[in-house]
Amino acid sequence: MIKCVYCQNQETDSESHIIPEGLGTGPTLLGAVGRSCNNDFGKVEQVIIKALAPITNFLQLTGKRGKRPALELEADFGDVKQRIKVRNPQDLKQRLFSYKTAISSDGKKKKIAFIGPIDQLEEARKSYSEKYPNTTWEDMQSSDISDVAFYLHFDFAIFYNPFCMRAVAKIAFEWWIKQRSPGVVQGNEYDAIRNFIKAGEFPNYPIVSIVQDRTIINAFGPIPFGIHTLFCSIDPHSSNLVILVGLFSLVFYKVILTKRHTALAKIEQLATVNPQTGQYYEPIIRLSLRSGPYISKIEKADCIDPLKAIQNMKPFLLNRLNNGFEAIRAQST
Ligand SMILES: [Zn+2]
Repeated sequence: MIKCVYCQNQETDSESHIIPEGLGTGPTLLGAVGRSCNNDFGKVEQVIIKALAPITNFLQLTGKRGKRPALELEADFGDVKQRIKVRNPQDLKQRLFSYKTAISSDGKKKKIAFIGPIDQLEEARKSYSEKYPNTTWEDMQSSDISDVAFYLHFDFAIFYNPFCMRAVAKIAFEWWIKQRSPGVVQGNEYDAIRNFIKAGEFPNYPIVSIVQDRTIINAFGPIPFGIHTLFCSIDPHSSNLVILVGLFSLVFYKVILTKRHTALAKIEQLATVNPQTGQYYEPIIRLSLRSGPYISKIEKADCIDPLKAIQNMKPFLLNRLNNGFEAIRAQST
């Protein structure tokens, strides 16, 4: 009798997206997860989907309702900073409508840009004038418009957010179940991973950690930014069953699915998911990990607080993110 792999209820009628739907399309798991567990995870995954909007928007991924996620941009112009929400570049064009120089009563010139729906221009100008009476307005030259700078804030804190780590653990767990069967995870050796995914309970070992080892990260170098990476490493000398999850191949996580796995032979399995097409692919790339540390060991670096790990990695990640965006931009033009 098949039971839900999370709560052991005998109801497994729900289709679980191994990669959260908001992070693109991909393989699904059928007949393993009950509806109520699946619904609960929606809330966990929502946190990461929202925070990763700058990436998913850039990759033109659409969520459940077929819409690109909204991005919050900061428009910096002269003395004024404004936050605006856009879904695509066309949105931005529609919203940028008027640039004015305001001259206040003391004769000082202020550069002010109104950014918003066109029908709100007059209203915005009126309310500004009420606040600062005696303001006169000058139309600006179109050349001044190029002075507007847009900033996109990307908060790396999401990568050590416990909700993110649970979502990552869920990806690893469900990929493993998809490879094998719901039956293989019914035993209590998988309780720790279940409790972590379901309730965020941390065991006394680094069940999900951020990979800092450059040998490991570089081994996945051929996989471009934007593609999700999954890697399973089984070593008969270790009882740890470890799966690596590379979210957009930007941040790599090590997930210990169980510490009581008996393996007869060494297995290394690599898979990628293209979140734009949903294509699941098992590339034949010989990973140069043999000389490096085995993934199935628990290393010192795995025990580092994820917050510290991201702080250590930030220059590297920023570089990877910028290069990744640049490569995709170059492809699309
Ligand atoms: Zn359940």
